[in-house]
Amino acid sequence: MIPLLMACLGVLVADLLLDVVNQVHQQRHAAEVPAILADLLTPERVRRGQAYHRARTLLARSETLLCAALWLVFLFGGGLGRYDALLLAHWPALPMQGMVFACGLLALRLLVAAPFAWYRQFRLEERYGFNTMSRQLWLADAIKATLLALFFAGLAGAAFPALLLWRPDSWWLWGWTGLTLFSAALIWLAPWLIEPLFHRFRPLTQPDLLRSIQQLADTAGLAGARILSVDASRRSRHSNAYFAGLGRQRRIVLYDNLLNHFQPDEILAVLAHEMGHWRHHHLRYRFLWHALVTLAGFLLAQRLWLWGGLPGLVGLNTASPAAQGLLLLLLMHLAGFFLAPLGNGLARRQEWQADVFARHLTGRPDRLADALVKLARDNLIALHPHPWYVWFNYSHPPLVERLEALRDRNG
Ligand SMILES: [Zn+2]
Repeated sequence: MIPLLMACLGVLVADLLLDVVNQVHQQRHAAEVPAILADLLTPERVRRGQAYHRARTLLARSETLLCAALWLVFLFGGGLGRYDALLLAHWPALPMQGMVFACGLLALRLLVAAPFAWYRQFRLEERYGFNTMSRQLWLADAIKATLLALFFAGLAGAAFPALLLWRPDSWWLWGWTGLTLFSAALIWLAPWLIEPLFHRFRPLTQPDLLRSIQQLADTAGLAGARILSVDASRRSRHSNAYFAGLGRQRRIVLYDNLLNHFQPDEILAVLAHEMGHWRHHHLRYRFLWHALVTLAGFLLAQRLWLWGGLPGLVGLNTASPAAQGLLLLLLMHLAGFFLAPLGNGLARRQEWQADVFARHLTGRPDRLADALVKLARDNLIALHPHPWYVWFNYSHPPLVERLEALRDRNG
């Protein structure tokens, strides 16, 4: 019982320490405008960005601490054993018990998360002028997201014990194959089944912009690329663009906020960056990376299952497959903490590649630099992250580094 408790506390403390180091570092540089942004940002804007980031971190960490405390009491204070036994008494069939087990815990977790999400949207985001969401829309989103999450949790909760019963020796291989195929199917189906539940996607309508985009896509070798706009402004004033989908499902999505507030040249520069992700097959590599990581996870889970000591990790003599599945997930979560720098390092590498691609495609690195500065200003990006924090947590290179690289190769 002690080793797992120590591992949980260790990861929790390490994560919090990283946050503290980052916040102290940002605080120390709060009044500094990086030289490369001297003419573009006021010290007031930089300070506002730091304050926004600090408020978000504080809220996120309060939630983490509360959840961690609840989980630790549940796991090590005897809650798991009682919950497990209670469900087994009512639902002796293991797949059914697994489904109720997973849905019950997830429902409690979402209940704890709801006030934090509400506060984030209607207090924090509101205070910094980002919120455009009505309370009704928030509630509708929350209900839909909860139902979806419960559906997936129930499926996984039932599948794990069912697989163990059906294939006691090779369950991990079947589980991994099933999960990978399911993820691939979701990438294909999400634009029809899931995304329309929350957002409306439309083809771009501005004829001049569309023509320029078509030219850019032709030059990039992406003729027929699907470029869509999403109605993000119904929820917030943040602006962004992203690249999604695999195969013929590939598409570049621009927030309507970006389309409304950015110059055509800046929009084209952002698109050129997203086209870089497309041309370099970044999503395919990301998918492969996740498939490899989950394969390692399933292999590890198989070893732990054969070892038979999982219930003992929380002081129990026996536990249902669902309860042991929860402990496996916890162990994977702890291991995932140490993998985060690797995954984020790969993601940052892809961002560099996409920047280089955009520079060559447009021949105007200054336009991408302008767009990045505008995005940073509009989204109140923190400008002085601590290098350790970046190494561990950042999926994108820090703004100043990107601007320096763009300017460097420009000259
Ligand atoms: Zn990118």
